[in-house]
Amino acid sequence: DADRDMMLSRIRDVPDWPKPGVTFKDITPLLRDAPAFARVIELLSDAGPETGEPVTAASPPVDLVIGIEARGFILGAPVAHRLGAGFVPVRKEGKLPAETTTANYELEYGEETVEVHRDAVAPGQRVLIVDDVLATGGTVSATVELMRAAGAEIVGVNVLLELGFLHGRDRLADVHLDALLTV
Ligand code: IMP
Repeated sequence: DADRDMMLSRIRDVPDWPKPGVTFKDITPLLRDAPAFARVIELLSDAGPETGEPVTAASPPVDLVIGIEARGFILGAPVAHRLGAGFVPVRKEGKLPAETTTANYELEYGEETVEVHRDAVAPGQRVLIVDDVLATGGTVSATVELMRAAGAEIVGVNVLLELGFLHGRDRLADVHLDALLTV
Protein backbone atom coordinates (compact mmCIF):
# COMPACT_ATOMS: atom_id res chain seq x y z
CA ASP A 1 0.00 0.00 0.00
CA ALA A 2 0.94 3.70 -0.05
CA ASP A 3 2.48 3.71 3.45
CA ARG A 4 4.56 0.65 2.67
CA ASP A 5 5.89 2.13 -0.59
CA MET A 6 6.58 5.46 1.12
CA MET A 7 8.60 3.78 3.89
CA LEU A 8 10.44 1.28 1.66
CA SER A 9 11.51 4.00 -0.76
CA ARG A 10 13.16 5.86 2.14
CA ILE A 11 15.09 2.95 3.65
CA ARG A 12 18.46 2.57 1.97
CA ASP A 13 20.41 -0.67 1.56
CA VAL A 14 24.09 -0.19 2.39
CA PRO A 15 26.04 -3.24 1.18
CA ASP A 16 28.94 -4.65 3.20
CA TRP A 17 28.29 -2.56 6.29
CA PRO A 18 29.21 -2.85 9.14
CA LYS A 19 31.11 -5.81 7.70
CA PRO A 20 31.49 -7.67 4.38
CA GLY A 21 28.44 -9.74 3.44
CA VAL A 22 25.99 -7.77 5.60
CA THR A 23 23.53 -5.38 3.98
CA PHE A 24 22.59 -2.64 6.42
CA LYS A 25 19.11 -1.11 6.31
CA ASP A 26 19.69 2.63 6.75
CA ILE A 27 16.63 4.56 7.95
CA THR A 28 18.24 8.03 7.93
CA PRO A 29 16.62 8.99 4.55
CA LEU A 30 13.24 8.31 6.17
CA LEU A 31 14.06 10.29 9.33
CA ARG A 32 15.10 13.40 7.40
CA ASP A 33 11.82 13.51 5.47
CA ALA A 34 9.33 15.38 7.69
CA PRO A 35 6.02 13.90 6.41
CA ALA A 36 7.50 10.39 6.28
CA PHE A 37 8.92 10.65 9.81
CA ALA A 38 5.57 11.94 11.11
CA ARG A 39 3.68 9.08 9.45
CA VAL A 40 6.03 6.45 10.87
CA ILE A 41 5.58 7.83 14.39
CA GLU A 42 1.81 7.78 13.90
CA LEU A 43 1.90 4.16 12.70
CA LEU A 44 4.30 3.03 15.45
CA SER A 45 1.92 4.54 18.01
CA ASP A 46 -1.10 2.77 16.57
CA ALA A 47 0.08 -0.72 15.65
CA GLY A 48 -2.12 -2.48 18.16
CA PRO A 49 -1.94 -5.46 20.49
CA GLU A 50 -3.66 -8.82 19.83
CA THR A 51 -7.15 -7.42 20.26
CA GLY A 52 -6.61 -5.31 17.16
CA GLU A 53 -7.33 -2.19 19.16
CA PRO A 54 -4.85 0.64 18.66
CA VAL A 55 -2.30 1.16 21.44
CA THR A 56 -3.63 4.71 21.81
CA ALA A 57 -7.03 3.26 22.68
CA ALA A 58 -5.67 0.52 24.98
CA SER A 59 -7.31 0.56 28.34
CA PRO A 60 -5.57 1.08 30.68
CA PRO A 61 -3.15 2.99 28.46
CA VAL A 62 0.58 2.51 28.00
CA ASP A 63 2.53 3.91 30.97
CA LEU A 64 6.01 3.73 29.45
CA VAL A 65 7.60 3.42 26.05
CA ILE A 66 10.87 1.46 26.20
CA GLY A 67 13.31 2.64 23.52
CA ILE A 68 16.35 0.55 22.60
CA GLU A 69 19.68 2.29 21.91
CA ALA A 70 20.20 4.04 19.60
CA ARG A 71 17.59 4.32 16.85
CA GLY A 72 14.93 3.09 19.26
CA PHE A 73 15.46 6.40 21.07
CA ILE A 74 14.75 8.41 17.91
CA LEU A 75 11.50 6.53 17.26
CA GLY A 76 10.46 5.69 20.82
CA ALA A 77 10.60 9.20 22.31
CA PRO A 78 8.08 10.75 19.87
CA VAL A 79 5.85 7.66 20.26
CA ALA A 80 5.91 8.17 24.05
CA HIS A 81 5.02 11.82 23.61
CA ARG A 82 2.15 10.93 21.30
CA LEU A 83 0.79 8.28 23.70
CA GLY A 84 1.14 10.54 26.74
CA ALA A 85 3.54 7.96 28.20
CA GLY A 86 6.94 8.26 29.84
CA PHE A 87 10.12 7.17 28.09
CA VAL A 88 12.70 4.69 29.39
CA PRO A 89 16.01 4.03 27.62
CA VAL A 90 17.46 0.52 27.35
CA ARG A 91 21.18 0.92 26.66
CA LYS A 92 24.29 -1.03 25.85
CA GLU A 93 26.39 -1.94 28.86
CA GLY A 94 28.13 0.87 30.74
CA LYS A 95 26.12 3.87 29.54
CA LEU A 96 23.53 4.29 32.28
CA PRO A 97 24.74 6.17 35.39
CA ALA A 98 22.61 4.71 38.21
CA GLU A 99 22.01 1.13 39.40
CA THR A 100 20.98 -1.19 36.57
CA THR A 101 19.53 -4.59 35.74
CA THR A 102 21.30 -6.37 32.86
CA ALA A 103 20.44 -9.03 30.29
CA ASN A 104 22.84 -10.83 27.94
CA TYR A 105 22.20 -12.17 24.48
CA GLU A 106 24.19 -14.13 21.94
CA LEU A 107 25.63 -12.56 18.82
CA GLU A 108 27.07 -14.43 15.86
CA TYR A 109 30.45 -13.99 17.55
CA GLY A 110 30.34 -13.40 21.30
CA GLU A 111 27.84 -11.75 23.57
CA GLU A 112 26.12 -8.40 23.99
CA THR A 113 24.63 -6.87 27.13
CA VAL A 114 21.77 -4.41 27.49
CA GLU A 115 20.68 -2.71 30.67
CA VAL A 116 17.99 -0.55 32.22
CA HIS A 117 17.89 1.50 35.40
CA ARG A 118 16.65 -0.62 38.27
CA ASP A 119 14.07 1.98 39.31
CA ALA A 120 12.88 2.85 35.77
CA VAL A 121 9.91 0.46 35.58
CA ALA A 122 7.64 -0.41 38.50
CA PRO A 123 5.86 -3.78 38.82
CA GLY A 124 2.57 -3.78 36.90
CA GLN A 125 3.42 -0.84 34.67
CA ARG A 126 2.26 -1.28 31.08
CA VAL A 127 5.12 -0.94 28.62
CA LEU A 128 5.46 -0.72 24.84
CA ILE A 129 8.88 -1.65 23.44
CA VAL A 130 10.02 0.28 20.33
CA ASP A 131 12.99 -0.25 18.03
CA ASP A 132 13.86 0.42 14.40
CA VAL A 133 14.90 -2.97 13.04
CA LEU A 134 14.20 -6.51 14.23
CA ALA A 135 17.01 -8.70 12.91
CA THR A 136 17.85 -11.88 14.88
CA GLY A 137 15.59 -10.72 17.71
CA GLY A 138 18.37 -10.92 20.30
CA THR A 139 18.15 -7.27 21.34
CA VAL A 140 14.38 -7.23 21.70
CA SER A 141 14.26 -10.57 23.53
CA ALA A 142 16.89 -9.32 26.02
CA THR A 143 14.75 -6.19 26.50
CA VAL A 144 11.68 -8.36 27.08
CA GLU A 145 13.70 -10.23 29.73
CA LEU A 146 14.57 -6.92 31.43
CA MET A 147 10.91 -5.89 31.46
CA ARG A 148 9.79 -9.25 32.87
CA ALA A 149 12.43 -8.99 35.61
CA ALA A 150 10.99 -5.57 36.49
CA GLY A 151 7.47 -7.05 36.70
CA ALA A 152 6.19 -4.96 33.78
CA GLU A 153 3.17 -5.86 31.72
CA ILE A 154 4.35 -5.92 28.10
CA VAL A 155 1.62 -4.45 25.90
CA GLY A 156 3.62 -5.17 22.76
CA VAL A 157 6.72 -4.64 20.67
CA ASN A 158 6.50 -2.21 17.75
CA VAL A 159 9.26 -2.07 15.18
CA LEU A 160 9.59 -0.20 11.91
CA LEU A 161 11.23 -3.00 9.93
CA GLU A 162 11.42 -6.77 10.41
CA LEU A 163 14.06 -8.76 8.55
CA GLY A 164 11.87 -11.83 8.09
CA PHE A 165 14.63 -14.08 6.76
CA LEU A 166 16.42 -13.94 10.14
CA HIS A 167 13.34 -15.31 11.96
CA GLY A 168 13.74 -13.01 14.97
CA ARG A 169 10.01 -13.35 15.54
CA ASP A 170 10.51 -16.98 16.59
CA ARG A 171 12.44 -15.81 19.66
CA LEU A 172 9.50 -13.62 20.66
CA ALA A 173 6.67 -16.11 20.47
CA ASP A 174 5.18 -15.01 23.80
CA VAL A 175 4.86 -11.26 23.12
CA HIS A 176 2.76 -9.36 20.62
CA LEU A 177 5.07 -8.11 17.88
CA ASP A 178 4.02 -5.64 15.19
CA ALA A 179 6.27 -4.60 12.30
CA LEU A 180 5.26 -1.77 9.97
CA LEU A 181 7.26 -3.48 7.21
CA THR A 182 8.63 -6.98 6.71
CA VAL A 183 11.28 -7.78 4.10
P1 IMP B 1 19.01 -8.14 16.53
O1 IMP B 1 19.34 -8.14 17.98
O2 IMP B 1 19.82 -9.09 15.73
O3 IMP B 1 17.52 -8.30 16.29
O4 IMP B 1 19.44 -6.74 15.94
C1 IMP B 1 18.62 -5.66 16.17
C2 IMP B 1 19.39 -4.47 16.64
O5 IMP B 1 20.48 -4.19 15.78
C3 IMP B 1 18.48 -3.26 16.62
O6 IMP B 1 18.70 -2.47 17.76
C4 IMP B 1 18.84 -2.55 15.35
O7 IMP B 1 18.91 -1.16 15.53
C5 IMP B 1 20.21 -3.09 14.95
N1 IMP B 1 20.24 -3.54 13.57
C6 IMP B 1 20.50 -4.78 13.09
N2 IMP B 1 20.48 -4.81 11.76
C7 IMP B 1 20.18 -3.57 11.36
C8 IMP B 1 20.00 -2.96 10.07
O8 IMP B 1 20.12 -3.56 8.98
N3 IMP B 1 19.68 -1.63 10.09
C9 IMP B 1 19.54 -0.93 11.23
N4 IMP B 1 19.71 -1.48 12.43
C10 IMP B 1 20.03 -2.77 12.50
